[in-house]
Amino acid sequence: MDTTSGGFDSATALAWVRRIAAAIERDADQLTQLDSAIGDADHGVNMQRGFAAVIAALDGRDFTTPGEVLVTAGTTLMSTVGGAAGPLYGSAFRAAGKQLATTTATADQILDGLRSGAEAVQRLGAARPGDKTMIDAYLPAVDAFAKAVAAGHTLAETAAAAAAAAEDGMRATIPMIGRKGRASYLGPRGEGHQDPGATSLALVFRALAEAVRP
Ligand code: ADP
Ligand code: MG
Repeated sequence: MDTTSGGFDSATALAWVRRIAAAIERDADQLTQLDSAIGDADHGVNMQRGFAAVIAALDGRDFTTPGEVLVTAGTTLMSTVGGAAGPLYGSAFRAAGKQLATTTATADQILDGLRSGAEAVQRLGAARPGDKTMIDAYLPAVDAFAKAVAAGHTLAETAAAAAAAAEDGMRATIPMIGRKGRASYLGPRGEGHQDPGATSLALVFRALAEAVRP
């Protein structure tokens, strides 16, 4: 694991969230540019503000479980990020965190957490596959994670497979026509543009793969 040999514990969850924040910081302009093509040009700014607040909320605190880290991140995102992405990401992190309530999480528990997060996004936003949203990156990533766990792969291999699937799903949004959120206002004119939320979602899974790399 990244900072510890103790499995997926609170230190690993902190490393994950810090890597997400760094990736958002690095790619904020790209996220905003993508959102300027099919939305209102605020996705990078929204995510940047949200994860800066998450880092501030986590700093100097002690966490017993990985779930506490993720619930804190989710609650902070909900209260600091406007627009669609804040409540969606916030509820995903909170739902995932609730599944990781032991000191160290197994790959199966992480899978349950990721699944619960995707269910929370769909409960709130009602997006289905093909609607050109973060769900188009999220669901393939969860599927790949489940397959790799079932095949007995290590957590590092599993998370890497999920990240690759999220990136494929992200690219697959390019030809889609938006049916949820602001991209739906554009209809067919949104075709040819990659969805910003699917792009940030892929960063989240890439950060997980990096955080659990041995
Ligand atoms: P807003 O659209 O309110 O400006 P953001 O720009 O921060 O919020 O986020 C836009 C992203 O949110 C989209 O690219 C899309 O992936 C995601 N999104 C929007 N609506 C939904 C929804 N109903 N379900 C899932 N994801 C959604
Ligand atoms: Mg926007």
